This record gives sequence, C-alpha cells and structure tokens, in this order.
Amino acid sequence: MWAIDSKLTDLYKEHHLFKSCISIQFPKGWHSIIKEIVQFLEYSNRRIDFKIVVTQVKIKFGMLIVYLEPELSVSGDAKSYEQFSEIAQKVDGIANKSFRMCKICGKNLVKTVVDSRIAVRCLEHFDVTQGDKDLRRMRL
Ligand SMILES: [Zn+2]
Repeated sequence: MWAIDSKLTDLYKEHHLFKSCISIQFPKGWHSIIKEIVQFLEYSNRRIDFKIVVTQVKIKFGMLIVYLEPELSVSGDAKSYEQFSEIAQKVDGIANKSFRMCKICGKNLVKTVVDSRIAVRCLEHFDVTQGDKDLRRMRL
C-alpha cells in the first residue's frame, strides 16, 4: 500500500507558494511532479504582474489535482485572467503525468493483462492500486 508521507508534504507548508494552501496530499512517487509544478510557477510568477499560489493539492480519481489562485493586487483585468488560465492549464498538464506514474516509486506504469482485462500497473509495485479503475479502462 502507499501512504501520504507527512514528512514530505510538511516540506511545502512553509513554502511561499503554499502559504494559503488548505491541504497538501500527494504520494511519494509523485514528488517529482510537485517539484516540476513549483519550478514552473516560480518561473511564471517572475513573468507576470501578479502572483499565482497553490490553494490545494489532492488526489482525485487516482490523479493529482492542483488548485491555484491568483494573488491580485488590483482587481483582475482581462490580460491577467488570460495569463492565469494559460499557466493553470500548463500546471494541469504537468499534474496529469500522475496518470502514468507509480504512487510509490514514480516509475512509468505499464499495461498488463489481469483477468483478461487490461490494467495499468507498476512492474515493481504490482499490488498497489494505481487509480480509479473505471477511469483507467475508459482511457486505454
Ligand atoms: Zn512502483
């Protein structure tokens, strides 16, 4: 079984991008995704007139979901809105990598046949539930 490693998630509680974050939950195997999102947000925040922060990190339907919020000093104009939605879309794209990543080791999941059905799993962590089964079947 995989579990939330609170030592790992606690690392982010003090991080400036996570100050207004209500909860941070992700399995160890997906830490590289979090690191990539943090790096991308720090890079993006330097290029816009406001700041984008993380408000929640959670696992939903076996995938990583990251909620973001713009920290606007003035009321958001159309340009800021466009920049925010563009950056949020890219963050979603990075978070979607979790669909093919083992929750324990982060390796790519492979398609295997189990009970004459195709299942996506890690070859090393065969017994770990890697997500919502119905959703996975739909996507294969
Ligand atoms: Zn694994």
